[in-house]
Amino acid sequence: MRRRQLRIALLAVSALAGSVLVATAPAGAEPAGSTATAGSGRSTLEDQEQVRLVRIHLAGADLLDKVVAAGFDLEHGLKRVPTGIEGEAVVTAAQLTELEAMGVDILGDDEGFAWNEEADGGFQSRRTQTVQPLSHEKTVRVVRADWFTTKGQGFLYVEARTTEGQQADPVVEMQVENDSGRGTSFGFARTMSRFVDSGQYMFHRNLFKLDARPNQIRVTSSTGGVATGDVSNWLEDGAPPLTANPAYKWDFVDGYRHPQQLYSRAEEIARQYPDIAEIVYLPNQTNGYQRNAQATIGGTGQAAVVVSSAAWGHEGGNDITVEFVDRPGANIPLSVEVAGKAVRVLLAKDASGGLASTAAQVAAALESQSQGLIGRAHPYRTNAGTGIVVPTSGPVALTDFLDQKRAGAPEGEVPRGPATIPVLRIGKHRDGKKPGVLIQAQDHAREWVPATTSLESAERLVHNYRSDRETKKIVDNTDVFFILSNNPDGANYSFYNFASQRRNMTNHCPDENADPARRNSWGVDLNRNYRVGSGHDGYAGGSTSCVSDTYQGPAELSEPESKNIIWLVEKYSNIKFMMSVHSNGGQLFWQPGAYIADGRITTPRPPLGDEAFYWQSAARILSQVKAHRQTVVTPENVGGSSDVLYSSAGNVREDLYHTYGIYAFGWEVGGSVYNPATGNWQGGSFQPAWVGDPNLVSGHAETMEYANGIMEMFRVAADWGRDKKDPTSSLVPGGGKYSAPVDVRFETSEPATIYYTTDGSRPTLESPRYAATEFREPGQVFHVTETTTFHWFSVDSAGNIEQNYDPTKNDKRNNYRKATITIKR
Ligand SMILES: [Zn+2]
Repeated sequence: MRRRQLRIALLAVSALAGSVLVATAPAGAEPAGSTATAGSGRSTLEDQEQVRLVRIHLAGADLLDKVVAAGFDLEHGLKRVPTGIEGEAVVTAAQLTELEAMGVDILGDDEGFAWNEEADGGFQSRRTQTVQPLSHEKTVRVVRADWFTTKGQGFLYVEARTTEGQQADPVVEMQVENDSGRGTSFGFARTMSRFVDSGQYMFHRNLFKLDARPNQIRVTSSTGGVATGDVSNWLEDGAPPLTANPAYKWDFVDGYRHPQQLYSRAEEIARQYPDIAEIVYLPNQTNGYQRNAQATIGGTGQAAVVVSSAAWGHEGGNDITVEFVDRPGANIPLSVEVAGKAVRVLLAKDASGGLASTAAQVAAALESQSQGLIGRAHPYRTNAGTGIVVPTSGPVALTDFLDQKRAGAPEGEVPRGPATIPVLRIGKHRDGKKPGVLIQAQDHAREWVPATTSLESAERLVHNYRSDRETKKIVDNTDVFFILSNNPDGANYSFYNFASQRRNMTNHCPDENADPARRNSWGVDLNRNYRVGSGHDGYAGGSTSCVSDTYQGPAELSEPESKNIIWLVEKYSNIKFMMSVHSNGGQLFWQPGAYIADGRITTPRPPLGDEAFYWQSAARILSQVKAHRQTVVTPENVGGSSDVLYSSAGNVREDLYHTYGIYAFGWEVGGSVYNPATGNWQGGSFQPAWVGDPNLVSGHAETMEYANGIMEMFRVAADWGRDKKDPTSSLVPGGGKYSAPVDVRFETSEPATIYYTTDGSRPTLESPRYAATEFREPGQVFHVTETTTFHWFSVDSAGNIEQNYDPTKNDKRNNYRKATITIKR
């Protein structure tokens, strides 16, 4: 492969920039005769050997391990590609030679695999710039320092990074100190926790109680790094919720709802409010609240036989009996008699008149000779079925076990068979022109609060449309799709049979796990069944075991419930927002949501503009949750889901964001709440008492507070749809003459992604994207050592482009932004 030629003009310094904190003094910026006021610290970089950023290709994870073990600095952004792993390395000329000797391919500009345009903006394969992140400084950076209060108690949450964080021996320790307000001194040193995930150092972090809001923090590392940072507010400045208006109608849901109740209420709402609501029926019926009738006959040893009816239990399977019969005589072959629904296995006798049919033989005879009544018969679990089958004491009745209701199950019969899922669509203008928002609840059956939260939100929209101005704005400017339960089969099973059911009810198990004692372990985890970052492609967090609670299914989109979601977003392409509502972790997250464990290679991270938009939206949504009863979703639980929770291979959010460009949030409602009586955080549960302690864990209170958040998500979407205002951006400090190398970064007026060039060319959507210093951090800093001209433009989350520039047309206007940094020594 061709090695690319580099002209080194810039280095991106791994110093933190942006609105929150300054970790190191800006280096070497002395504007010559200008009014710019950048700091006057001396650059520490000029003496260092020049390093360069190269794109690399590795044949596989083994080589990656070898390269990392050899101490190479591989940038984030490693990606699994069909032929191995691609990434970036920051290396000296000597290290580059060493890399090649190890078998690493150095990629040229136009080589390599690219995700689709939605995934990474085409950036990875087309980088032609000479901008070089430098990450060999032994620095500490403050990532976040967030102050929040809940129920009268203040808390500070801090994240900080050291560039030596991956080092294992000795592990680098970090301490955080805080002041007690503006002008006070630092004190109260606390040791921070080192957060390592899948072998990858993430950052150090701490959450602790404080009585007074600090103004600044200072973080020090055991190797001498130090950084200070300003403290920001987290959910402290939210507007009052809609429910603060005395005329606003809310609190409609008075208990848990099983799927039949949810769906019939959805249909009723559509009938009652035809001007603003309708039902869209999803095309794929579920596999059904139904099971084959079964029995395991003869214990669990080699003589045991597992029998399953061909028909569903409710369609005749439950009427079948199976009997193993001994007959007098010798030398009689095995046979099967069928009378009505009674199946009699006449066991074979040997020459001396002894029983002579093995379990394997009986199973085979049942499958072939039961006149179609028995669909499946086999030895128990992994047995070969070599034991001699003994007679039963009489006919054994098969059952689907669905008649056996668990204690405390709701009244009423559950309709057996496949279900059709209705989508409740609410909006004044349902013509595809308003931004669509998909609220998808209860992929996971045992999560009951997401369903009531979604129903409460729908009720609030229709009941307040005519009387509440804010609600009218939502309904007039959005097109909302509620799936109140996306797993009705599993949810019924959770309500009636097995409360802890997570998955749907489809049994994909081979014989060894197909006996009825395994019935609570069957089903597909619907939120592992999608196509992007899936377990089928090697991402972590989905299981290939059909009895695992995270079973990903036999193939991507194998389940009707996941096929339906894809159908919906393809049919209604105005859907631009999605909330996958789960419980009970107290999290709000987005992409990346999955990684390959070996190397912790995530799905592509959203560009900086999307990341900023997600954070801005999250703060709005969670402020409204907090407004109800001071529940705070803490900042450590907000972000990319694989960063704050774990890798969820094949989750729905990953697919909708990367394939369709939908802002796809995931929510874990009903998480920990602070209990001032004990001074501790108290965790939630999947099915908390509906009316529990209203200040702590309560299905009702969680429903009300998280419905506030869903209302705010609608307002986020409405604002997005009406956003026609172009973003503005600037290079800080700006163009001009400087007597020494200068550090520059981009700032934007709102969440926006910047595309830029430094080689004099016209910036396009294929130009490099301005990136974060590292994940969860603001934009990078460029260390400019030679005269450089930046050309750039910014695009906001709604697609508006700065100065109305058209990056797809090389016309005379070319009104992108320009600035030249002239270095005169
Ligand atoms: Zn869930």
